[in-house]
Amino acid sequence: MVNNWHRLRKRIHLICFLIFVALPFFNIVRFDIPRERFYFAGFELWINEFAIVFFTMMFLMFLGVVASIFYGRVYCGYLCPQMIFSEASLWLEARLQKLVAKRQISKILARALFYAGVAAASVVLAFVFVAYFVEPRDLLHRLLTLDIRTAGGISGAAVTIVTFLDFTVVRLKFCTTVCPYGYLQGLLGDGNTLLVHYRDESHTCIECKKCVRLCPMGIDIRKSPFQVECIHCAECIDACDEILAKMKKPGLIHYAWGEKGPLARDRRQPWDAKRVIVMIILACYAGGLFTALAMRRAVLVRVAPDRTTMYRLGADGRVYNKFRYTLANRGGKQAAVVFSLQQLPGARLEMESNPVSLTAGASKAGEFEISAPRGAQRELVTHFSILTSTAPDQDTETIPMTFLAPAGSQ
Ligand code: SF4
Ligand code: SF4
Repeated sequence: MVNNWHRLRKRIHLICFLIFVALPFFNIVRFDIPRERFYFAGFELWINEFAIVFFTMMFLMFLGVVASIFYGRVYCGYLCPQMIFSEASLWLEARLQKLVAKRQISKILARALFYAGVAAASVVLAFVFVAYFVEPRDLLHRLLTLDIRTAGGISGAAVTIVTFLDFTVVRLKFCTTVCPYGYLQGLLGDGNTLLVHYRDESHTCIECKKCVRLCPMGIDIRKSPFQVECIHCAECIDACDEILAKMKKPGLIHYAWGEKGPLARDRRQPWDAKRVIVMIILACYAGGLFTALAMRRAVLVRVAPDRTTMYRLGADGRVYNKFRYTLANRGGKQAAVVFSLQQLPGARLEMESNPVSLTAGASKAGEFEISAPRGAQRELVTHFSILTSTAPDQDTETIPMTFLAPAGSQ
């Protein structure tokens, strides 16, 4: 079938663009730098939630590695935003040049329309990009007030200018100069990695060079399947299929599993020990991430003894120990934490307020004392527990603690 890869690629580009826009707006993946939050799959993670942030990063990074080992540079041709928007900019330029060639518009008007179109697109793209790091409504407010004084506003303006220059001047040159992924791919790929390969055992090539003319990277795939410029976009496959179909012959360029491996259309990815191992590692990171998310508590409770003084003897004859608490409500709703004591007979919690209420996203630190009758402790150090119960999640936690009393009280 002729032109199928091109059509598929353009559809995937559209889906990727929609995903690129949706990710920050629906908090699927977003780093909120001002608020020090990381959003992943709808979870609001605090930067100090190390295990989850670590597993998320490792999982996403390793997913990229696995995709490269299996499918080579397919990411570049099908999913990369730089490629998608560079091609869109080239498409716009080509359309306007066609209008100039037909004398429907002047060269100057075509240039002006091109720059105006890319400028408008740059504002939108820069907005979406910065929304990965700044809350979108806050960012919109900064954009509408033309804020170029705050960090968010300055970043938005700078990214807009860089985007404009990127899609008017740099475009696909980025892939072969600045982007390290193409070079990294050389290290990750092996004899079973997907690549675009020219095979002409029966010397059918008619030297039409259509594959070269339509290659967005301007290379000749017939020279080698390992050219660093090749982004595996398959435009050359479509070109050759189309030209040779007119002679009722099959195309000479194909997706293949390695230089000597079978064609991708004939066989699925060949598996080997390396692929099994990387899939196991990926599954481990996915498992770690899933476990860390499942064990996550919406309200973080930390209690630690304040040992600047070991204990205090009250006028009421009781022994007092001081403790500090830190609470962080990482959930999306109001919460309240109730403190209580276990295994410390006759003890009382001396707190300003119990329960302690917390609005969504808020942190609170405070201190309290626990008093126990002097002489009630059989030991200098008594082990007991502080229980916390969080509403509305009904999440309980038992925190082991020690109570100190003067030796004479034994
Ligand atoms: S499009 Fe096919 S036939 Fe034409 S030059 Fe390229 S490989 Fe040869
Ligand atoms: S050689 Fe073919 S697959 Fe590689 S970039 Fe050019 S058109 Fe795309």
